[in-house]
Amino acid sequence: MSMLGAPSAPSDFIRAIVAQDLKSNKHGGRVVTRFPPEPNGYLHIGHAKSICLNFGIANENPGGICHLRFDDTNPSTENVEYVESIQSDVRWLGFDWRDRLFHASDYFERLYQFAVHLIKKGKAYVDSLSADEIRAYRGTLTEPGKDSPYRTRSVEENLDLFARMRAGEFPDGAHVLRAKIDMASPNINMRDPVLYRIRRVPHYRTGDTWCIYPTYDYAHPLSDAIEGITHSICTLEFEDHRPLYDWVVEGGDAPCHPQQIEFARLNLTHTVMSKRKLLQLVEQGQVVGWDDPRLPTLKGLRRRGYTPEAIRAFCEHIGVAKRDAVVEMALLEHFIREDLNKRAPRVMGVLRPLRLVLDNYPEGQVEELEAVNNPEDPSMGLRKVPFSRVLYIEREDFREDPPKQFFRLAPGREVRLRYAYIIQCVGVVKDQRTGEVVELHCTYDPETRSGGSGAARKVKSTIHWVSAKQALDAEVRLYDHLLITANPGEEEGREFTELLNPNSLEVVTGCKVEPSLAGAASGSRYQFERQGYFCADPDSGSGKLVFNRTVALRDSWAKIEKAQQLG
Ligand code: ATP
Ligand code: MG
Repeated sequence: MSMLGAPSAPSDFIRAIVAQDLKSNKHGGRVVTRFPPEPNGYLHIGHAKSICLNFGIANENPGGICHLRFDDTNPSTENVEYVESIQSDVRWLGFDWRDRLFHASDYFERLYQFAVHLIKKGKAYVDSLSADEIRAYRGTLTEPGKDSPYRTRSVEENLDLFARMRAGEFPDGAHVLRAKIDMASPNINMRDPVLYRIRRVPHYRTGDTWCIYPTYDYAHPLSDAIEGITHSICTLEFEDHRPLYDWVVEGGDAPCHPQQIEFARLNLTHTVMSKRKLLQLVEQGQVVGWDDPRLPTLKGLRRRGYTPEAIRAFCEHIGVAKRDAVVEMALLEHFIREDLNKRAPRVMGVLRPLRLVLDNYPEGQVEELEAVNNPEDPSMGLRKVPFSRVLYIEREDFREDPPKQFFRLAPGREVRLRYAYIIQCVGVVKDQRTGEVVELHCTYDPETRSGGSGAARKVKSTIHWVSAKQALDAEVRLYDHLLITANPGEEEGREFTELLNPNSLEVVTGCKVEPSLAGAASGSRYQFERQGYFCADPDSGSGKLVFNRTVALRDSWAKIEKAQQLG
């Protein structure tokens, strides 16, 4: 972890292959990659890894380009909403496909012609076994498959049946088109894989034009070849499909031969990444939508307050490798902290307010104190924060009976108020019935104002506050992990929906924030001093303020307390 944060030119085994291919002029000096999402859901942080890799490699090489291609060959799950969200997410991440926007569905006619070509070469046949029979004939990892009785159909019969499949003469499932490769291949993917199925499902782009649809293993390599892709980068689970990828490109006599290269997908702890599972959470109402700040979707991370810069820096840091691994969510959080530390203005906000009266502060007086917007960046300047006799401080910054190492406010104790004075607690008001502390009485030392001549006097702790009269009400949403376990895959026999964290969202109302936050625009990011980074939620507006906590600051007291409990 020693190289955290130090950006250097990325290098990895894929970039090494690309560099080598350029040197040997393998693809005529071209570098053409693609990001090929299926529009059946919203993009997640795993996709970001693939986007950064594919667009990154294109951008690093002169003349390189990365295509955005919608792999839309499965009409039952795809739609325009997903297409649009994917485009906006890729742009938001900071990448540009220029004029290279494609859809596999635009190639349906050409894919069909490639299939006719395969049939004519004796490399594909129409099979009339049922789906169950095809499965049974396929064999297992240890047993070879069996030839279908339809495997020996003549080219003429195959051409006729395939044309009639397209024409809609047969019901769904009556026939499929299969590659004629080898039913005894040790690689099950090569046992005459299905290339086309009959499915009467309207497609969001081609409507009812087609009732046969190509499979992924058939459409993907040919789409790559049609577009002149040089390096077709995909995740590890397609490694065993690579011989089929090559077979399809060669068998179809495609115009060029892209090279498939596999890398390990991103896995993150405490969350789910597959679109199918994310869709399940959305549909079941377990989250508010695809942009729920608890989800690892790009829309969710954005609403949570993540920046594209932080996500790109994270992706660059984890790099690409050939071995599957699980990355700690804490690492992603590290990168957003680093980024927001540099750019988020500091403000004061009190999540759980406790009223504090300065007995010796003149009634009705208001001082406008100067506060630094960002100590990391002096160019962000100063702002004024009102100070007066009645303030709110954080409830947890006071203990009536302070434990060891608790240096904040307590009866008789002194603390400094950030940007203001040293105060001393002289009295505690409690609710008669519950015994709860409802108000503190303090005195302030006028000689100790920050920036003034008495500012040098040191006390052990500085706490944040807001002036009661000028404070604005806000709602704050605190988030915790989506799942209660780090690696749901290890919880045998348990559905991920049983592992949802019931405390993943805590809504805190009645928070008090400084008046500079009036009208904070949705998406604006702040550091609430001592609390963490926060982002104004789109639910803010017409006088209402709602903030999502992006990530907490590292809380030193919470660490001490935890250590004490453990010890
Ligand atoms: P999911 O299982 O979430 O639906 P997918 O692989 O089916 O993912 P696609 O839309 O097919 O989703 O993916 C588009 C591209 O993003 C593919 O090239 C895929 O390999 C890549 N990708 C998807 N998930 C990850 C991940 N977790 N890490 C890295 N790359 C990924
Ligand atoms: Mg998929």
